[in-house]
Amino acid sequence: MKKILFLMSDTGGGHRAAAEALRDAILSKYEADVKLIDVFRTYSPFPFKYMPEFYPWLINHSKSSWRVGYKLSDSRRSARTLSRGMYVTMESGVKQMLRDNPADVIVCVHSVLTPVSMQALMSFEKRPPFVCVVTDLVSTHMFWYDRRADRTLLPTRPAYERGLMAGLKPEQMRVTGLPVHPDFAASLTDKASARKALGWDPDRPAILIVGGGEGMGPIQKTAQAINSRNLNCQIAIIAGRNQELETKLREADWNQPTHVYGFVTDMPRLMAAADILVTKAGPATISEACIAGLPMIIYDAIPGQETGNVDYVIDNNAGVFAPSSRAVADSVQAWLAEGPKGLERRSRNAHRLGRPNAVWDIADEIWEYAHKPLIANNRRNLFKEFAAESKRLITTI
Ligand code: UDP
Repeated sequence: MKKILFLMSDTGGGHRAAAEALRDAILSKYEADVKLIDVFRTYSPFPFKYMPEFYPWLINHSKSSWRVGYKLSDSRRSARTLSRGMYVTMESGVKQMLRDNPADVIVCVHSVLTPVSMQALMSFEKRPPFVCVVTDLVSTHMFWYDRRADRTLLPTRPAYERGLMAGLKPEQMRVTGLPVHPDFAASLTDKASARKALGWDPDRPAILIVGGGEGMGPIQKTAQAINSRNLNCQIAIIAGRNQELETKLREADWNQPTHVYGFVTDMPRLMAAADILVTKAGPATISEACIAGLPMIIYDAIPGQETGNVDYVIDNNAGVFAPSSRAVADSVQAWLAEGPKGLERRSRNAHRLGRPNAVWDIADEIWEYAHKPLIANNRRNLFKEFAAESKRLITTI
C-alpha cells in the first residue's frame, strides 16, 4: 500500500484543513496509508515546538511586529538565510521524523516547513518525491518556493508568478486552486432548502458574518453597525471558537432576525443560505465562498499572507474591502439597495473564482507522485550546493 506523509502544523487552521481535505479525497479514491504530522509540535525543539500557540498570539497581540517580520523575511535571500538558521535547530528532529515515517511521497502544506524538510531530505542517499501544496492564496511567502521540490501546486496565477520570481521552473509548478474539502461542494444545497434547515426567514436577504475559525476581528462592532441601519435583512454571526464573543452576541438586542452560532460544522449550509459574506481575508473562507457563489465584504486581513487576498477578491469583482465597521455597514446597505438582481450578479462573479475540483486534481497528482521511484541524491551536487550556500551565507553576514 502506498504511504503518503503530510507535513503540516496547527499554526492557524488552514494547513490542517488542506491536509485533511486532501487525505479524505485520496482515501475516497485510492487505497493508501495517509499520515499527517504536525512537525513543529511533534518533532521540533523549543521554541519551534510552541509555534501553534505562538502564531495566533502574535497575530492577535502584535500585528505590526508580524507585518514587519513578514516583510523583512519575504525575499529569496532572507527566506534562504532564515530557513538555514532554523534548520540548525530543527535538523535532528526533522531527520528523525523522516526515519520514523518512511513514505512513497511527502506532501508539505506549510511554508516554513518546506525548505527545512527539503534540506533534511537532501541529506539521505535516496528520498521520496516531494510535493508542496501552497495554502496561502496570493501574497505567498518566499518560504513556499524551494527549487529542489519536485512539484509545487499553487492556488492562483499570482502565486505562480511569485514562483517564477523565486526561480522555480514553469514545469515544476501548476495552478490547481486551493484544496477545499470535497464535502463542501457536495453539501451545498439551494438557498431555500438551506434556510429551511437552519430555521431562517425564507425571504429576507441574509448577511453571514465570520472571522475565521477563531472568530477574529471586530465582529461584534461590525454586526452592531449593520444592526443600527435597521435594514430589511437577517444576520447570521459565527463566533467560531471565540466563546466570549458568542456570549456577548447572544446577550445583545437586535433590530432584525439575528442568528448567533459558536463553532459551526455545517459551513456549506450557512454559505448556501446567505446572500452576502462579511469576513476577514482567510484563504479557506474566500475559496469556500467562491465555490458557494457568495460575494464578500472583507473587513480585515492578516498582514503579509492575507494582504494579497483582498486585491484578488476586488480585482475579480467577487467583493469589496471595507476596513471599518461603518464601511462594512455602508457596503451592506448599498448592496441590499441594488436588490436581488445586483446580489445575483455579485454571486456569479464570486462563483467564477471557485475551484471545487482543486482538491481532486491535487489528490491525483499526489497519487501519481506516490508511484514514482525514490530519487537518488547526487552527492557531488550536494557538495556543490553546500559550497554555494556557505558562500552565500558568508556574503550575507
Ligand atoms: N470554520 C468552520 N467553523 C467555524 C468557523 C470557521 O468550519 O465556526 C472554517 C471555515 O469554513 C474555513 C476555516 O474554518 O474552512 C477558516 O479558515 P481561514 O483560512 O478562512 O481562516 P483561519 O481561521 O485559518 O485564520
